[in-house]
Amino acid sequence: MDPTSHPVSPLEQALHAARALVLADLVAGEVAEADVVSLVEDSVVQRRWWVEQWPEGVGYVAGLVAQDVQDALLERYGRWPLCPVCGSGDPHALDVEPELGPDPHWVCHKAGVKVASVGCLGSATGEMPSS
Ligand SMILES: [Zn+2]
Repeated sequence: MDPTSHPVSPLEQALHAARALVLADLVAGEVAEADVVSLVEDSVVQRRWWVEQWPEGVGYVAGLVAQDVQDALLERYGRWPLCPVCGSGDPHALDVEPELGPDPHWVCHKAGVKVASVGCLGSATGEMPSS
């Protein structure tokens, strides 16, 4: 892939942004291992195909990539991201809302609160990504 061969399309911009947001949340959760990063790459590849089929969905890729990575992590790593709001009780993962829409957020259904925008979990948990 040669990025100089053509201007960056809105699709590539959206995918790049989605990748950056989800990686920021993985860093915040300290799970940004190499194999986890590859899960993000896999999702971005799949969502590129998906948006090519349905261009109107370009604004939804960040939430979708977040959910893809969440599902993939559940199989390999466990629940992610763990809810930082509820201090007691069973550890539970946050959910992305809307599942298919713009401006995705992490929410805790147990407490019924919006925790952070996708990409901003670091500020919600008190740890900022270092870069
Ligand atoms: Zn919770």
